[in-house]
Amino acid sequence: MLIAPHVRGMQPYAPIVPLDVLSRRLGLPPERIVKLDANENPYGTSPRALEALARSRDLHIYPDPDQTALREALAAFIGVPMEHILCGAGGDEVIDLLARAFLEPGQMVIDLPPTFGMYKWEADVLGAGYMPVPRRHDFSVDIDAVESVVRAFEASGAPPKLLFVTNPNNPDGSVTPRQDLLRLLDLPVVVVVDEAYIDFSDEQSLAPLVPERDNLIVLRTFSKLAGMAGVRVGYGVFPLPVMRHLWKVKQPYTPNVAGSIMAIAALQDREWLDRSVLALTSERLRLSDALRVFDWLTPLPSHTNFVLCRVTGGRDARAVKQALERQGVLVRYFDKDGLRDCLRITVGKPEHTDALVVALGQV
Ligand code: PMP
Repeated sequence: MLIAPHVRGMQPYAPIVPLDVLSRRLGLPPERIVKLDANENPYGTSPRALEALARSRDLHIYPDPDQTALREALAAFIGVPMEHILCGAGGDEVIDLLARAFLEPGQMVIDLPPTFGMYKWEADVLGAGYMPVPRRHDFSVDIDAVESVVRAFEASGAPPKLLFVTNPNNPDGSVTPRQDLLRLLDLPVVVVVDEAYIDFSDEQSLAPLVPERDNLIVLRTFSKLAGMAGVRVGYGVFPLPVMRHLWKVKQPYTPNVAGSIMAIAALQDREWLDRSVLALTSERLRLSDALRVFDWLTPLPSHTNFVLCRVTGGRDARAVKQALERQGVLVRYFDKDGLRDCLRITVGKPEHTDALVVALGQV
């Protein structure tokens, strides 16, 4: 076979199963399924975004490759000049772009697992080296360990290329203190801070620091805050010297016209965004309280739109996930080190929490 050796040996990314496929598999109509497995925002897109899409007469025309209108809108939204901003088909495409621009086979990516799986997947796709520096049992980042690993690579003459820090982290929802992130920025490595969930926390984004730093990249997405996971729009904030290279490796026509129109309108509907964040952060509290009632569940504090829950009392987390699924309630189980006794539950609407609690009572 002519497939490259690093691809032949690679593990595939395990994406979630779509609703209609699940509906057929479970024999339940889609409206009976409570989908709390992929950190989607159940309040969805602002009605203004849907109206803007319906008004559009440009869907037969290719998108602006410079993403001018969307980048202008984002510059106003995050307070960073548009020259630093580049959008893609979801945060995933932006991660792919920066991996393609930075990595060559054999070069090191440092990752802080348990965390979002896409960083390792990108390292694998590009045949890059992958060095995990595991988080502690409470999911905090061991900054000293990261410093030692980066310095050791530097001393060996091969400094690592990229360090990914998800803040707040997926799948546990914890935040890394700002002073720790600033310590990481002093290391000889490009630090990619993935802020996909930051809008559900009280943390300040690092995006405004990007123009002053040459080794900081910040990633954001419309999937969570703006309820647009199915539309696929994300963006990154990059130092200027990186930008011109990213434009070279990027396909010209992402995000698509529909996504750009909806994203711009979503940014203009601040009230909708704020209301959905408020609904989800207050429901997060209610969900955590409801989970705590089960003496075999321990929800962890979360700064995101999901809650990681330890399963104790001799119960098996995977079996609990399967028992919930049979009742049409989907949550996420990860067959990965540090997570085998955990379930990740997305914060939904109040009625979703209620349905989950009833289903947990049957487990
Ligand atoms: N970063 C993190 C930490 C995520 O959890 C996700 C999605 N689950 C993404 C980035 C990418 O999101 P999207 O591609 O939908 O923008």
